[in-house]
Amino acid sequence: MSFGIDDLPVRDELRGKSPYGAPQLDVPVRLNTNENPYPLPEPLVERITERVREAARDLNRYPDRDAVQLRTELAKYLTKTGDHPLSIENVWAANGSNEVIQQLLQTFGGPGRSAIGFEPSYSMHALISRGTGTRWISGPRDEDFTLDVEAASAAIAEHKPDVVFITTPNNPTGNAVPPETVLALYEAAQTAKAATAGAIVVVDEAYIEFSHGASLLPLLEGRPNLVVSRTMSKAFGAAGLRLGYLAAHPAVVDAVQLVRLPYHLSAITQATALAALEHTDTLLKYVEQLKAERDRLVAELRAAGFEVTESDANFVQFGRFEEPHAVWQKILDRGVLVRDNGVPGFLRVSAGTPEENDAFLDAVREVKKELDA
Ligand code: PMP
Repeated sequence: MSFGIDDLPVRDELRGKSPYGAPQLDVPVRLNTNENPYPLPEPLVERITERVREAARDLNRYPDRDAVQLRTELAKYLTKTGDHPLSIENVWAANGSNEVIQQLLQTFGGPGRSAIGFEPSYSMHALISRGTGTRWISGPRDEDFTLDVEAASAAIAEHKPDVVFITTPNNPTGNAVPPETVLALYEAAQTAKAATAGAIVVVDEAYIEFSHGASLLPLLEGRPNLVVSRTMSKAFGAAGLRLGYLAAHPAVVDAVQLVRLPYHLSAITQATALAALEHTDTLLKYVEQLKAERDRLVAELRAAGFEVTESDANFVQFGRFEEPHAVWQKILDRGVLVRDNGVPGFLRVSAGTPEENDAFLDAVREVKKELDA
């Protein structure tokens, strides 16, 4: 046996665990990681090149540690689209919303503290909790994948978590959480932790631009323990950029400064993100196209006899399969990569271009025929 992880003095809670690992396979149609299928438009590519060239001239210096220009532009974007006025003091940015979540857990979680999410949900909430020494609590979700306010509130009352994750639209199931539910869980979390300064409630809105409903940003008013996290990886079609951000009370933004690494956001990242923000109108047009394709996937999958979870995201959860992984393989054998998130009975497909979605629908109809035969 060769020398491996277990021979190293790694932390006990990491022993025997697996890293995040959505397969990156080279197949014709890749619909497994909820990326935007459209490459950035050429005028934006030009603008990025210009801005990066400018930034390159100053690379001998550290970047703006506080990302002032970028946070100002993000605040403007949120104010314009989120129906809630925000300014730079309310906004913080990092390398992907995964890093935002990590900074939040480093600040408000950590050893001796706990975080809860309502599963199945975004697996990185649990993994980043583990990585930051925060105890993870798996909260309940209904059979139909909606959030049951009573059951979720009871779990919060029982475990008194320091951090509560609510993902809306939820990944991998696709459904959105109504604002009343978020408000009820916020109250439950504050009541459970009334003896201290309350609990931080993180609303993960990575997919909100694809939703039929509105953002929960207006709920920030008067709720200093609420945080909304966002990303440019999905709606902005810039997963390769690694830019995530949050909106919250200015005190939350001050608090995450305690754990962020100095100069965490490179000058190249800041320049690229600023260029993308100049083109939001064009980028959001692709979102409309993707929403229509998402709705088509839901309708056609249902027409083909599949059980489909309501989707407000750029992906769709479909089933029910006795052996989802075997079905995943059969779809892959037809050149289409979808995702097996380990949800019993279900698989997930990201909305691609109309051609990619057609290829997926053809493949999945063929597989169904085979399974029904
Ligand atoms: N939140 C959710 C719900 C996600 O699905 C993802 C990406 N799959 C992220 C956060 C992280 O995205 P990123 O780090 O690219 O911003």
